[in-house]
Amino acid sequence: MTTFNFCAGPAMLPVDVMAQAQHEFINWQQHGCSIMEMSHRSKSFIRVAAEAEQDLRDLLNIPTNYKVLFMHGGGRGQFSAVPLNLLKAGQTADYIVSGAWSTSAVEEAAKYGQLNVQNIRQTDANGSRSLIAPKDWQLTPNAAYVHCCPNETVDGIEFTALPDSQSPIVADLSSTILSRPIDVCRYGVIYAGAQKNIGPSGLTLAIVREDLLPTKESIIPSVLDYRLAAENDSMFNTPPSFAWYLAGLVFKWLKQQGGVTEMATRNQIKASFLYDYIDKSDFYSNDVDTAYRSWMNVPFFLADERLNDMFVDQSEAHGLLALKGHRMVGGMRASIYNAIPLEGVQTLVSFMQEFERVNG
Ligand code: PLP
Repeated sequence: MTTFNFCAGPAMLPVDVMAQAQHEFINWQQHGCSIMEMSHRSKSFIRVAAEAEQDLRDLLNIPTNYKVLFMHGGGRGQFSAVPLNLLKAGQTADYIVSGAWSTSAVEEAAKYGQLNVQNIRQTDANGSRSLIAPKDWQLTPNAAYVHCCPNETVDGIEFTALPDSQSPIVADLSSTILSRPIDVCRYGVIYAGAQKNIGPSGLTLAIVREDLLPTKESIIPSVLDYRLAAENDSMFNTPPSFAWYLAGLVFKWLKQQGGVTEMATRNQIKASFLYDYIDKSDFYSNDVDTAYRSWMNVPFFLADERLNDMFVDQSEAHGLLALKGHRMVGGMRASIYNAIPLEGVQTLVSFMQEFERVNG
């Protein structure tokens, strides 16, 4: 039976990548050991690391005045790293709240400085969950930065339009990076935990515009310091080397598939296929305004919640893994990142149809 893993993270990785990693697992390129057993200072690992960076730069068209940092600490590590690196005494940072993760980012950043928090969540007249458009955000003149989370993994809500702000935009792209092209120049900092569209957990990407690197005199903990990471090619301390290697395989896979433009086409088709079915059915529902529905994380609800456990058990028995919704939202959630093929979504919809036929 083919299985499809709809987990929100750590998430399914491309089958071809996993096969290559398995093949090389204990004897990487005939070195007689695994790459995870090799020094990060070895020529071989430095080559792997540099290639991964270059491939990512190619994929996202990252300008040369941006540093690409391979860090530790996950998305939550960046919730602290961002204010520590960018928010100076006496400054204010704007925080846009569109869901659970941007709320957590606020809670962390509030420890370090002055924030202007904007809740952009709203409910439409028809009861759908929606967002206030960027032109109506009340931003602080000369804010140190504007932090936002364009795709909220838990809530299944996303926005693509960015504000016209003079302040640098800092975006948590943990669950949407590499799902489509982005204009990196619009951002001051982009960060992402790897465990969705990039690779295994333990690795965190930060793409930082050079002029935003902190000064040498800062008292930022060294492992979160963007300048130290940049000056040491992300090897100030031992990097998550296996995760970095695997991310490199994913980047090569993405290039072979046609890059992020091709991913955008595929992701849009996958998401539409699932949402279209949900919208046509009276048995399932999704309550996000169609303009803000996430391409990556699709929460949905059964009309009869008493069937939830049966749905989860039976879907798992059919090889459709991890569909149980996040505890804060309930219902179900299908995370359909780059590695889930259209076939996975088609199989899910077939299962949902059959479940509806039997239980509806
Ligand atoms: N930001 C977003 C958008 C996420 O989806 C997550 C985790 O799922 C995080 C931040 C937190 O990431 P981590 O668990 O790597 O700290």
